[in-house]
Amino acid sequence: MNILILGSGGREHALAWKIAASPLVERLYCAPGNAGIARECEVVALDPADHALVISFSQSHKIGLVVVGPEAPLCAGIVDDLAQAGIKAFGPSRAAARLEGSKGFAKDFCKANRIPTAAYGRFAAAAPAKSYVRVRGAPIVVKADGLAAGKGVVVAATESEAETAIDTMLGGGLRAASAEVVIEDYLAGEEASFFALCDGETAMPLASAQDHKRAFDGDKGPNTGGMGAFSPAPAMTAEMTRRVMDEIVRPTVAAMKAMGAPYRGVLYAGLMITAEGPKLIEYNVRFGDPECQVLMLRLMSDLVPALLAATDGVLRNFDLRWVPEAALTVVMAAKGYPGDYAKGSVIEGLDAAGAVEGVEIFHAGTRAEDGRIVANGGRVLNVSALGKTLAHAQARAYEAVDRIRWPEGFCRRDIGFFSAWRP
Ligand code: AMP
Repeated sequence: MNILILGSGGREHALAWKIAASPLVERLYCAPGNAGIARECEVVALDPADHALVISFSQSHKIGLVVVGPEAPLCAGIVDDLAQAGIKAFGPSRAAARLEGSKGFAKDFCKANRIPTAAYGRFAAAAPAKSYVRVRGAPIVVKADGLAAGKGVVVAATESEAETAIDTMLGGGLRAASAEVVIEDYLAGEEASFFALCDGETAMPLASAQDHKRAFDGDKGPNTGGMGAFSPAPAMTAEMTRRVMDEIVRPTVAAMKAMGAPYRGVLYAGLMITAEGPKLIEYNVRFGDPECQVLMLRLMSDLVPALLAATDGVLRNFDLRWVPEAALTVVMAAKGYPGDYAKGSVIEGLDAAGAVEGVEIFHAGTRAEDGRIVANGGRVLNVSALGKTLAHAQARAYEAVDRIRWPEGFCRRDIGFFSAWRP
């Protein structure tokens, strides 16, 4: 079968790396891809936002499955448009992708279906939003309703911080994404990411992972798309996995089916493990980035039959096997990220870094220029490693990081170290 992956980040590189290893794949394409993805498959200069072009490419290249990496095309209905053209695609429909596309929708959905989450209010005007903040008190969390690429959440320590966030967001700070805000209670606890493969009816848990969202060591600095991740996540014991499946994931899949928007694809539940049990912070409708990178390193089974089983609604009785080793990924970003940063600096030493045992380097934002690899984004490389333990994977990943010569880049030196459950 021919497969087309949509996206251009480290998540899509990890997916391309894993899918390229499948004996079921004849030709593999990725649009638009990056310089690292170009080593796994053929990259195509195609904008995933242009659904008509994606459809005509898929038809002319006899694509049997389109794998959609990021949330934006899913929320824009690419899976519906491909289906209408008779092309199979992995990922939720536009209606099902609202779980991520609208935080207000997701909160109302949780409330209606008794899925544990923080108490909240929805507001389109500043005055009632501010009086809600005064009633609930700080700390409190202000969120833009729509997709904001990780920039739409303010965890406010004081009421005045919350008021500033309300003014910024409702004042058009994030354009249409913040025309409405959700304000919710602050949840204390340990965060974890939970992933399940869903076929509209059945949900199958994937391996667990945990990421590091802040830019700097010791969980300091601004929130980012993610500066590193590791798997397994020690918070996700067998008992906690059972609770998350019973209290959050299965009720979600059942309720989506009941409302006529069956959920197919990867369901990513961002969780807070509180004293009362697991609570949902947010839904995402695709693999996490960089969590996907560590999951793909640990996945022993062929990914392609799993994606097909989820798409075709036959996940029941399906099984995936994972290597027992730990995996860890360190994100190398351009200095200045998540704020302004420069593109075009040259990266050297990648071959030596990739030669460290157990290491895979996934590219998140690179392009090739005159035979050299140059930075082409905020998050640029995902230096990833397997190891017998988390500490072993960590040592290998940082050995590889230290072989990379890129003065214009930076990374956290404590990926995996600050976990409360570090080995
Ligand atoms: P989100 O984009 O919804 O995942 O939020 C980004 C980050 O903000 C999360 O990873 C949490 O660290 C934090 N956060 C979001 N909602 C809450 C909440 N209700 N209580 C505490 N922290 C939160």
